[in-house]
Amino acid sequence: MQWFIEPSKWPSHLVLPMMILKENLKEPPKAGVGYSCSDCGKAYKVKSSLSNHRKWECGKEPRFKCLYCAYKAKQKVHLVRHLRKLHRVLDSEELNHAVVHFKEKCPQCHKLYKNRKSLISHRSRDCGRPKHNICEVCFEAFKRKEHLRGHMIRRHGLLLH
Ligand SMILES: [Zn+2]
Ligand SMILES: [Zn+2]
Ligand SMILES: [Zn+2]
Ligand SMILES: [Zn+2]
Repeated sequence: MQWFIEPSKWPSHLVLPMMILKENLKEPPKAGVGYSCSDCGKAYKVKSSLSNHRKWECGKEPRFKCLYCAYKAKQKVHLVRHLRKLHRVLDSEELNHAVVHFKEKCPQCHKLYKNRKSLISHRSRDCGRPKHNICEVCFEAFKRKEHLRGHMIRRHGLLLH
């Protein structure tokens, strides 16, 4: 049997199957074909899912937590899906209530907090060595009020009273 035939001489009904065979031999199909993240290697079929992943997930900590269990999610849609499926929360008001959103992150220890108030109280009570003068703009902490005052003027152009 002759194996090496010029492609132009292939019988027409064999051209397509043989082309596919050739393609497959050249490059074995990768798992999860599509777009893969250059940082973590996660693969997505659609490009927009990859950009979503890059924007919300990759290298990021989960910022959404379920009110009823320990489940955490990086994207709100995932948590909403979880709440619907596992806790049967369907009412939109109840959903909003059950989504715990950590909006603020401690710049020093990277702990997440629901709001500025709890972050500021963390900064003045239990983050590292507690300091009691916290900048409410960037959460930097200072031992002395004068230092905070100087920081506010230099960094944020604000005058503390
Ligand atoms: Zn990634
Ligand atoms: Zn849950
Ligand atoms: Zn901290
Ligand atoms: Zn500041």
